[in-house]
Amino acid sequence: MKPLPWHEAALARLAADRAHLPHAILVHGPAGIGKTEFIRALGASVLCERPRGGIACGECGSCHWFEQGNHPDIREIVPEAAEEDDSEAQGEGGKAEKAKSLVIKVDQVRAVADFISLSTHRAGFRVLLLHPAEALHPAAANALLKTLEEPPPATLIVLASDRPARLLATIRSRCRLLALPMPPRDAALAWLRANGIAEGERLLAMAGGAPLLAQRLAEPDEAQFRRKLLAELAKPGGADALAFAASVDRGAVERLVSCMQTWVQDLLRVRLAGKARHHADLAAALDARQRSADLDALFALDRELTQARRLAAHPLNPRLLAEHLLMAYNRATMGSRP
Ligand SMILES: [Zn+2]
Repeated sequence: MKPLPWHEAALARLAADRAHLPHAILVHGPAGIGKTEFIRALGASVLCERPRGGIACGECGSCHWFEQGNHPDIREIVPEAAEEDDSEAQGEGGKAEKAKSLVIKVDQVRAVADFISLSTHRAGFRVLLLHPAEALHPAAANALLKTLEEPPPATLIVLASDRPARLLATIRSRCRLLALPMPPRDAALAWLRANGIAEGERLLAMAGGAPLLAQRLAEPDEAQFRRKLLAELAKPGGADALAFAASVDRGAVERLVSCMQTWVQDLLRVRLAGKARHHADLAAALDARQRSADLDALFALDRELTQARRLAAHPLNPRLLAEHLLMAYNRATMGSRP
């Protein structure tokens, strides 16, 4: 598991000195910069039999097991909905998807108790990865806290989170904090190019500089959803809130909210500073929309979208939320129309 280029230095610094690794690390930073990749690379490095400068060699027995996803000394806890599985192959993908949990449940944390307490298979470290840590159900957080309070020997617990402030303070205080910054723009663009992504500059701008988010935005589903939503937000007569919201399912809520927020923030930027950040390619539409917008209402909507981002990770009525937000958008952008 090779680290992302912009993470190599941080990983090497951390993993070079195995003897002094903390029991638990909380990796935090903006969404879409590759925190999951970082903690996996850290796990691989800690398990590797011959790490080079703190980075997994990719060749030893341990690295082979890791690459195949069956190393016995590492576990990864994610919300069920984020698990890569074959639900689509069951032919009822939609239904299965809806039933899956977006939170990390207490049972999932309890299920690794044996893993944590038994001796390791390869007589080295044992690694538990858990992400996104803000998805921990309160009961699961408490179960995890017990483990963090009595850390077993030779065990490394690594959490990753976009929103560390939402974790229990007692969990945060038991971990060494490691902040990963937004990668340098050149490194991000080079990586997007190397991954065959056209329009890297436009996508990276839309993603606020986060390369993995930019990569996701390039996926056909994602790109199509955004195109439709942005066309809706750019309409001079306002978005067709009811019709558009009908197409928003649970999987699309977060996309809707984050894309709306980049648009609303661009309206504010154009109004206040004359320049867009995320959607510079739609400058004419942004300018037209901000002219008829009410500044206070836009600020209020931006705050509401921040709130909604928190809710978007939890089960709720996606259609109603989408309707509500799009209607608030219409009110804010048509506020000063004659
Ligand atoms: Zn290795």
